[in-house]
Amino acid sequence: MSEATGELCDRSAFELAALLRSREASASELVDSAYRRIAEVDDRLSAFLLLNEEDARNTAARVDDDLGRGVYSPAVAGIPLALKDVLCTKGIRTTAGSKILEPYIPPYSCTPWERLAASRSVLVGKTNCDEFAMGSSNENSAFRPVRNPWNLETVPGGSSGGSAAAVAAGEAVWALGTDTGGSVRQPAALCGVVGMKPTYGRISRYGLIAFASSLDHVATFTRDVRDAATLLSAIAGHDPRDATSLPEGPRDYTEGLEGGIRGLRIGVIEGWLEMDGVQPAVRDSVRAAIDRLERLGASVEPAELPHADYALSAYYLIAPAECSSNLARYDGVRYGYRSEDGEDVVQMNMRTRGEGFGDEVKRRIMLGTYSLSAGYYEAYYGQAQKVRTLVIRDYERAFERFDLLVSPTSPTTAFRLGEKSGDPLAMYLSDIFTIPSNLSGTPAISVPCGLAPDGLPVGFQIMGRLRDEATVLRVGRALEQDLGLILRPPLLDALAA
Ligand code: GLN
Repeated sequence: MSEATGELCDRSAFELAALLRSREASASELVDSAYRRIAEVDDRLSAFLLLNEEDARNTAARVDDDLGRGVYSPAVAGIPLALKDVLCTKGIRTTAGSKILEPYIPPYSCTPWERLAASRSVLVGKTNCDEFAMGSSNENSAFRPVRNPWNLETVPGGSSGGSAAAVAAGEAVWALGTDTGGSVRQPAALCGVVGMKPTYGRISRYGLIAFASSLDHVATFTRDVRDAATLLSAIAGHDPRDATSLPEGPRDYTEGLEGGIRGLRIGVIEGWLEMDGVQPAVRDSVRAAIDRLERLGASVEPAELPHADYALSAYYLIAPAECSSNLARYDGVRYGYRSEDGEDVVQMNMRTRGEGFGDEVKRRIMLGTYSLSAGYYEAYYGQAQKVRTLVIRDYERAFERFDLLVSPTSPTTAFRLGEKSGDPLAMYLSDIFTIPSNLSGTPAISVPCGLAPDGLPVGFQIMGRLRDEATVLRVGRALEQDLGLILRPPLLDALAA
């Protein structure tokens, strides 16, 4: 292992897989490197809720064994991975960031982890997140907030903030999160890593603790777009255990990745870029990235998604409605925490939910229950579903003219802890540019496009047609190669010094 280039855990999975194959590094060294970094930084970041050290080391040893015997090793074997703690892992505690699931040890694994485990991926640990994936800052974790490795006073974004921070800080080489309204793309933007949400149904939701089932997507965090393509290839593909899984087999998303973008038609959502509340540095950085895409041979023109202005409002009816139904199962009987108090089952049930759920989760359950109640159903939920259809049509219309649409991922760089926690509406607005692609189920990626003068990363969002992850990845790859950005949180330089 070469000391000159720093820790192994700071490299991309692609580079590490090559080192493993050539036997210049061992999987055991990779896992050591990740745990060394965790020991150095995680007391400050709180990216992890659980470390899976013994298992991880055993798997790494098995990978080394295979490599020693010349057995073919897939692209994910031996690479340190982190999983958001809403993804069920058999025999490994899974809390959804909630007190109500604090004692829960799933008897089965989610499909993405089952596939990765079968390929000898090394699970470093389970990452901290907003409770039941509800939030944009990770301050809603029932355990502790996560901090952004770029500036410990700021949030990493949410709800998959632990996974984003872990990848940004080299505690894992890549990670999975979930994106219901932006929870992978927004924290990826705020932490300076790549966040990719594929088409709805591309990655199985089997074994994912549900928040809002029609919006929930499993999504990836990686250091670069090539790794995003590799990780997606390892977990995507039809799963009969998820009724909404796309009926398409696995494929290799790295194929054609470096094909360039000449001739692609890119639409810029001008209305979003010029919206009040978009930080000028974000606007500048995104415009500069658009200029690069044009120089690389794409045609660039203004585009619009007229009904996307209502997407946030529709989302905050649909997501709470679905969550109020999904979270009804936490009653103190079936899973997890049970209040010891209560004279009868109804009281036990009420106390369990009162004590077990945090404020934001309760707020959503109440909102959702209200909007689904008789007499209000049509006015709220029904209306929101109509808006959702209009947003879907907007995308269809835009994709008649354009191959891709681009925008900032988040209106601002990372904000300070506490800055928005007292104001749910301000917090909800940080997903204004990501939510529309959840309503439509279309693929979208966030790629780092620069640093703002505050020293914090800016994310560039590329949105594609339904099922066309390949073009989204190709443009992301072209942009990252042209930018040649090496993003390294200052925290890590302080360690090296
Ligand atoms: N921030 C949004 C919310 O709180 C999105 C969450 C998510 O994508 N899981 O609902």
